[in-house]
Amino acid sequence: MADIAPLFDSNRAWAMSKLRVDPGFFGRLAEQQMPAYLWIGCADSRVPANEIVGLDPGELFVHRNVANLVHPADMNCLAVLQYAIEFLKVKHVIVTGHYGCGGVRAAMQPEQLGLIDHWLQPIRDVYAKNEAELKDVVDEYKRQNLLCEMNVREQVANLSKTTIVQNAWHRGQELSLHGLVYGISNGLIRDLGVTISGVDPVDPIFRTEPKQPAP
Ligand code: ZN
Repeated sequence: MADIAPLFDSNRAWAMSKLRVDPGFFGRLAEQQMPAYLWIGCADSRVPANEIVGLDPGELFVHRNVANLVHPADMNCLAVLQYAIEFLKVKHVIVTGHYGCGGVRAAMQPEQLGLIDHWLQPIRDVYAKNEAELKDVVDEYKRQNLLCEMNVREQVANLSKTTIVQNAWHRGQELSLHGLVYGISNGLIRDLGVTISGVDPVDPIFRTEPKQPAP
């Protein structure tokens, strides 16, 4: 307990600072949350979601995992996605990768790390798909960072292939998917320009029809 004692001290100081500015802050949050955004980001400790975009508790629904991946069979991510879209009615799902990502770097190396190798395999798939472009980048760090960007694009595409997202569009729900990359060395996020707001750009093989109610 002693080892984490400083966390309690800083927590009390933080809660007090919030109440000094807005005495009703926590009372309102206890009633409900109405975030407009779902953030899917890397678990990296240098990429704290709310802090980076200056949002308070209640304003950002967050899912983080190693290398900000959207696996098509990851129940954790899919459950977060469904809850965020169908119940919280978020208007934006934002995949945020970051330069210098250790997960992306690990996926570019031959050493075995264990279970994480399975988790990171989709990044090797992204690499294989884009090998021609990547192998022209001689500088290893730049190549890693290019793969970080490619990985974000792939995860945005993965989101667009889910029935959860497509059903929201079929219902006419306002929902956009975005891909961003965060610069650890300058603190800035950059839009990768891969925003999707409807089913039209989705490859037909990944498009599904709206589910019809039972007769
Ligand atoms: Zn990372």
